[in-house]
Amino acid sequence: MTVTTQSARLLVVMAHPDDAEIFIWGSLTAWHNAGAQIQLVVATSGEGGVRQGRDIPNLAQHREKEASNAAATLDIFPHFLRLPDGGLSDEPHLTHALKERIKAFKPDVVITHSPSDYHADHRALAAAVQSAASFTTPVLFCDPLGGVGFEPNVYVDVTSHREAKAAAIRCHASQDPERFVARADLQNQWRAFQCNGGLDDRAEAFRFEPRYPFTDIRSLLPPAPAVKRL
Ligand SMILES: [Zn+2]
Repeated sequence: MTVTTQSARLLVVMAHPDDAEIFIWGSLTAWHNAGAQIQLVVATSGEGGVRQGRDIPNLAQHREKEASNAAATLDIFPHFLRLPDGGLSDEPHLTHALKERIKAFKPDVVITHSPSDYHADHRALAAAVQSAASFTTPVLFCDPLGGVGFEPNVYVDVTSHREAKAAAIRCHASQDPERFVARADLQNQWRAFQCNGGLDDRAEAFRFEPRYPFTDIRSLLPPAPAVKRL
């Protein structure tokens, strides 16, 4: 059966409750609007995200609620693995849990962090996802914060999803979200500029590393930024 952007099943596996919003929410909105089915797995509940001067009781529970509120805007119900924030490692039980999820949901693509991401939790999860996906599902790596050391080869036009993305990040009020709204927007503007976009254009960037039998997954993706000549 041919899978398209409209019929795609996406499994998104992120380390912390606000990662999907900061890194890929514009693309998820594009997929959702096209009709794709999205499952979101969050490995930790973000209990390490303590902001100075704030004492939020049951922070993990609080952050799960924030993530659920954001996800609800795309009809997504996040599943939390409740592993230790700041202590993720590529352990067999994590790989096993992800394998089971892949077996049950049968995604067409799994989106996770980059193996070269700045955050150790993100790198550990990227390793576990690659083991779990093996040769059954293609894996798409998302742009790390700041894009440092990351060489994208997939871009998604998120210009019309800029506000939806900002609103989703703002659901994470416990994390002083304006700093992420601004940084993510700057990064998305810069990624659009790499595609010769104007100052009002936005793009999210990914990296796909072809492995047999998933050599080219463009038919699953939302539209790229329009080609603009110099
Ligand atoms: Zn994170």
